[in-house]
Amino acid sequence: MTKGKKTYTIDDLIEKVRTYITDSSDIELINKSYLYAKDKHSGQYRTSGEEYINHPLATAVILTSVYADTETICAGLLHDVLEDTDTTKQELEDEFGREIANLVYGVSKISRIHFSTENEALVEYYKKIIVGMSEDVRVIIIKLADRLHNMRTLWALPEDRRKAKAKETLEILAPIAHHLGIHKIKSELEDLSLRYLKPDVFYDIAEKLNNTKLERDNVVAEMLTSVSNILTEHNIKHEIKGRSKSIYSIYKKLEKGRKFSDIYDLLALRVLVETEQECYTIIGLIHSKYKPIPKRFKDYIAMPKANGYQSLHTTVFGIDGYLFEIQIRTHEMDEIAENGVASHWAYKEHKDLTKQSQNSTEAKLQFFKAIIELNEDKMSSEDFVNSVKNEVLNDNIYVFSPKGDIFELPKGSTPIDFAYRIHTRVGETMVGAIVNNNIVPLDYELKDNDIVKINTNKNSQGPSKEWLKIARTTQAKNKIRSFFSKSEKEIYIERGKDALEKELRKRKLSFQDFFTDENLKVILEDIKEESIDDLYLVVGNNKYSPNYIVNLIDKQEEEIKDIKLKPIPKNTDADIIVEGIDNIKVNLANCCNPLPGDEIIGYITKGNGISIHRKNCPNVYNLEERIVDVSWNSTINNKYLATIMIYSKPYDKALLEIMQKATVSNISIDSMRTINKIDDILYELDIWVNNLEHLNNFIRDLNNLSYIDNVVRFIR
Ligand code: MN
Repeated sequence: MTKGKKTYTIDDLIEKVRTYITDSSDIELINKSYLYAKDKHSGQYRTSGEEYINHPLATAVILTSVYADTETICAGLLHDVLEDTDTTKQELEDEFGREIANLVYGVSKISRIHFSTENEALVEYYKKIIVGMSEDVRVIIIKLADRLHNMRTLWALPEDRRKAKAKETLEILAPIAHHLGIHKIKSELEDLSLRYLKPDVFYDIAEKLNNTKLERDNVVAEMLTSVSNILTEHNIKHEIKGRSKSIYSIYKKLEKGRKFSDIYDLLALRVLVETEQECYTIIGLIHSKYKPIPKRFKDYIAMPKANGYQSLHTTVFGIDGYLFEIQIRTHEMDEIAENGVASHWAYKEHKDLTKQSQNSTEAKLQFFKAIIELNEDKMSSEDFVNSVKNEVLNDNIYVFSPKGDIFELPKGSTPIDFAYRIHTRVGETMVGAIVNNNIVPLDYELKDNDIVKINTNKNSQGPSKEWLKIARTTQAKNKIRSFFSKSEKEIYIERGKDALEKELRKRKLSFQDFFTDENLKVILEDIKEESIDDLYLVVGNNKYSPNYIVNLIDKQEEEIKDIKLKPIPKNTDADIIVEGIDNIKVNLANCCNPLPGDEIIGYITKGNGISIHRKNCPNVYNLEERIVDVSWNSTINNKYLATIMIYSKPYDKALLEIMQKATVSNISIDSMRTINKIDDILYELDIWVNNLEHLNNFIRDLNNLSYIDNVVRFIR
């Protein structure tokens, strides 16, 4: 294939489609779309000199590589007829139905916009497009396929247009492909962009790769055989691929100051197996033969990336001391990693859309949700475009809520950004933040995989002006600014409305049904106020609880309350209920790491709220005036950190089996240290568990292993 001049025929396309779409009426529709587009484009030629129809055809072929559905492929074939021929949307709709017509219309809308333009007048339009794009993700996938084929044939354009197209692709389209998790398309878009933007760099890297290719191929083949033998010995069905790094990813590393010879993940393997369990088994087997490099082990299976990516990563000293990056994942995870949001099409055919791929699709769409939310924040068009470019499309970090929900934030974000991302109200009532169980200052820079907990106090005075300097995201800054432009009264009204809405949601009542004129009259009479805004105000400033107001109309809650033994804590977000005090800053001590089920006491610290310890923790001096009664909030389902010490006889599969037990018990390992003693081995594990019972069951499981002498929970 020379310079991407390969042309496809309709037969090539149908052959690829048939590998996953079998229905003859679908094939018929694709064929019809092809003939229609061919007729409409007849007499048109591309700058490269070839017939125009080759372009939509190639676009459709690219779409089959991500298993696009029938409608998407038809729209791919038809994607330029609105733009470049006299066809109207109505004609398309009559001929192919509304769904396909809408997809084609969506693609044409995006095609008219040049992302790199600085023209003020187009900014508003650009904004509409991005928001519109996110309504049907298939439109974007067609656009990406269209752009990929245009990039493959970019040589046909004059140099200045080549560079402009390449720049736009690298800045906007490749990141969009990345966010959708379509690695296959993203990676080719990046390589092609680099080739036209910086041809000298591109060819330099390509040549170096070529020069060392033979040597690398030999080492990879040897390592591949070795790993494959180990797995066969253990009867694990597997597939292993030698993997090559993209030129663009090498360029990025060189740009960061690395030397070509130091880029050790040039040598890479990918192991594919059937089950998640096997992934963990294999990592143990590989580590017992090849020494891993510390801190390069990543468990993206237990903690998937925000775009849904799942895999285990490790780097080991392999054959002849060469460093190898090894990825281990199931076939399904691989499918999702390569094809991203598009991968669920492949599973639709099997009619077993698994929960996993559903979740990953949702995670990917989070990116588009973020865009839509930015728009809802009513910021200026210019701010909007900047924040899309800088915050949504740039380098991001992924952090977790204590419940394990994943949030994507721009690099440099602080707990303030996190709080406002959850909800404006969380940001406005924030009094402190805990990251990975440690209290951090509000200007702490969040890092990948941090677990972030925001402490709030509904009586807080609201954000301080200082926060404007600390917040990184436009979203948080705008919300802080708008807080200061509001009067106190407005803030209370907003809070009151929020609180009432929350209470109604809790009772599954709709706002409209509840606030009928009649009901409102009853409420206002009771609280002696005039209008609904007055009502919000008295709830917002805590004069009346939302519970009281709703009970005036909907009394069921009171009856339930009578049966309840324990009072419901007012602040249901907290792990801990402090007797007699609502909403105070509470931290779990990280010396004894208390778990729900443990007997606990609260210790009043100097200026740092209440610190919760286990009753038997030796670090607490029993100063009576500083001890308060506390209890666990039974309505909370968080994960808690516990440290255990495992005393084991030497046994080469010990670690492997411990990790397996943890996986089976739904326990994630935060960190692990191995201490070799003379006759035995000590493993120290930090793990995340639900409660004391969960931990005790795990300890019992471990004690049942013949070579394990003892397991103890640790207090520092
Ligand atoms: Mn096109």
